Amino acid sequence: MPRGSGRICIAGLRQRGRDWYVDSVPSPAGHLLAGVAVAWAAEAFEPLRRRVVSAGRPSKAAPVATPLVLACVALALAPDLDILLASHRTYTHSIAAAALAALAGGSVARALRAPGLATGLACGLAVASHIALDWLGHDTSTPRGLMALWPVSSAHYYSGLDLFADISRRYWKPEEFILKNAVSIVREVAILGPVVALAWWARKRVLASREGHPGV
Ligand SMILES: [Zn+2]
Repeated sequence: MPRGSGRICIAGLRQRGRDWYVDSVPSPAGHLLAGVAVAWAAEAFEPLRRRVVSAGRPSKAAPVATPLVLACVALALAPDLDILLASHRTYTHSIAAAALAALAGGSVARALRAPGLATGLACGLAVASHIALDWLGHDTSTPRGLMALWPVSSAHYYSGLDLFADISRRYWKPEEFILKNAVSIVREVAILGPVVALAWWARKRVLASREGHPGV
């Protein structure tokens, strides 16, 4: 057993056949990209577009990282915090978590006089992106998949498509931790990069086309 692993396992990070050291999901980089894509796509539509170009700001000066982008990135990454609770890929990887994020995001937005419904939808989709990516990823744990439909069902769902590769946390194995993970991350970027680029292009195009007509 590697040094330090005992304490982590005692904390319950290896449960029900799940190995904390080999995760069957896109890396945080993949989830980050998905969160950015959701936010930029949402900002290509009203009423969130209006928030980006408010105060007469030219489209070229529109910020890349708006509060919505930061929120969506955080929410797209957040479900994996359940690793710390020894219940990986269960409640935080469910439609309930996505609905809760939508509700919370919408409520905060309304309190800040921002578009509540649109912001809530974007926040919910950010969490849903995490669920979708995990569902599409390779999984060798037991049980396979995630509790995507909780609380409707506690069954684990797994696509079997293996679109994304394993991410290893075996830091004592450089060939895995560095080389294998690098290949996995490059694969994620190759798949999700075009999606992010498309969202960026759509946002930029809409902001430029509506420049001078912020109320449209
Ligand atoms: Zn996950």
